[in-house]
Amino acid sequence: MTKYIFVTGGVVSSLGKGISAASLGKLLEARGLSVAMLKCDPYINVDPGTMNPFQHGEVYVTEDGAETDLDLGHYERFLNKEMHHTNNITAGRIYETVIARERRGDFLGMTVQVIPHITDEIKSRFKLPAKGADIVIIEIGGTVGDIESLPFLEAARQMGLEAGRENTLYIHVTLVPFIKASEELKTKPTQHSVAKLRELGISPDIIVCRSEKPLSSEIKAKISMFCSVPKESVVDAPDVASIYEVPMVFDKQGLDDQVVMLLRLRSRAKDLESWSTVVHRLKNPKHEVQIALAGKYTDYKDAYKSVHEALVHGGIANDCRITVRYLDTSSPSILEDLHGVHGILVPGGFGDRGIEGKVKVTGLAREERIPFLGLCLGLQIAVVEFGRSVLKLSGAHSTEFDPKTRYPVIDLLPEQKAVQAKGASMRLGTYECCLKKGSLAHKAYGTATVQERHRHRYEVNNKFRKLYEDAGLQVTGTYAPKNLAEIVELRDHPWFLAAQFHPEFKSRPESPHPLFRDFVAAALARSRGLDRRPAGVKPAGRGFSGEDHG
Ligand code: GLN
Repeated sequence: MTKYIFVTGGVVSSLGKGISAASLGKLLEARGLSVAMLKCDPYINVDPGTMNPFQHGEVYVTEDGAETDLDLGHYERFLNKEMHHTNNITAGRIYETVIARERRGDFLGMTVQVIPHITDEIKSRFKLPAKGADIVIIEIGGTVGDIESLPFLEAARQMGLEAGRENTLYIHVTLVPFIKASEELKTKPTQHSVAKLRELGISPDIIVCRSEKPLSSEIKAKISMFCSVPKESVVDAPDVASIYEVPMVFDKQGLDDQVVMLLRLRSRAKDLESWSTVVHRLKNPKHEVQIALAGKYTDYKDAYKSVHEALVHGGIANDCRITVRYLDTSSPSILEDLHGVHGILVPGGFGDRGIEGKVKVTGLAREERIPFLGLCLGLQIAVVEFGRSVLKLSGAHSTEFDPKTRYPVIDLLPEQKAVQAKGASMRLGTYECCLKKGSLAHKAYGTATVQERHRHRYEVNNKFRKLYEDAGLQVTGTYAPKNLAEIVELRDHPWFLAAQFHPEFKSRPESPHPLFRDFVAAALARSRGLDRRPAGVKPAGRGFSGEDHG
């Protein structure tokens, strides 16, 4: 019998429910249990693909091409396991399905209602990932008390009845704020939030308390008494330097022991060795590098979550702390802002704000031999910049930003030109990429072909390919069936590589992505003045040199 664990959130949003759910998943998996994850998002969008990243952070793309919530990224990174479209549901998706069935006549004669029709559909989606899993951890987005999440909470309550209380567990993640004036941690918001959950028919079994400081035994006892959970089931989640420490924090307090006991699960001894090594390396790096992330959603770090994490993983592989400098390329001082960085990353994106700044930044990386990694839009920008500066194709651009450009070096394929509806219509998910022998990519991956995830509409225009290759920007990865450029690399540069896909989605703390690993290694070499310059190539003279950054 599959067991269900529901994770709800109280008091405020952004408590890190996703990290808590993923960390618990990690601990249970480390005990040999098979864990499936599901994220429920109460908004009406069918998926987050049409939303601005400022709303809910990055859109995480799964292997099967689903555009999903960024928490699925945490699940994949912590559990080292692939998620699919069935691991994320939204209110929009649920309503879309129920309404389509109503139109088909599946409910003839009935009034279609939230209870039971919407809640039944939600419950059927709870059960989908359960196949073959010992446990499904279901994270319900939003905060208890929101109107939007009510059908999901009602479905979670009903699951307790259907699957039986011994097979269902409710974990409530709340905030215990620290009031500076009185120097006290306050439990009242938690008490209210638990009371609210009870009104909806759910009594939490475990309370995870997010706080700035560790909770004292007295505070835990108070929460235990007022919220009616045993003291051992009040778990403390104080702020930690790295999210990867959270499983260790829970491990110390026996969170998974509680879960296993309450759900009457049998498991083997926990093996957290590899994870502990990751955390140890993360906390004790020998080196440090500064990487510029030259994007546009720089005030909202969640917009680049996977990129940030993949850089951290690249750091783990190189024994190196990564300081990420988030730079807004629409800033007039963008080139000066780059001073002292050891590597430049231009991430994916849509829309034209900051585009010319990205072109400048990429030109600087090319000329000043600063290690460069371009991702998706980052590749397109590298192609535009090289076209304009080296090939002298004046005004070269992507037709996304200049539909009338004389040199459409990045353009739509005919099938994308025909696209009318914007939802789920990009080139999405995994495609095979064949690597050119001897290239940076080939050296990094160590294989002839790789599978990587996509999310874009525009492609490198093959009409100009020969011109580019002859002048030194080579296509080193291709999607063979359509001869599409997937990776470009600059000759005579310490490390300049851009990918049309998103390698960041496949990086894990326990297995850092090879491109991020080698990019960080190149940045580290630059920081130590080891930037190997091929014989005969003079250092470029715009005021930055490898040694300047030592
Ligand atoms: N806007 C570009 C495209 O659609 C790049 C997308 C991205 O960076 N994910 O092709």
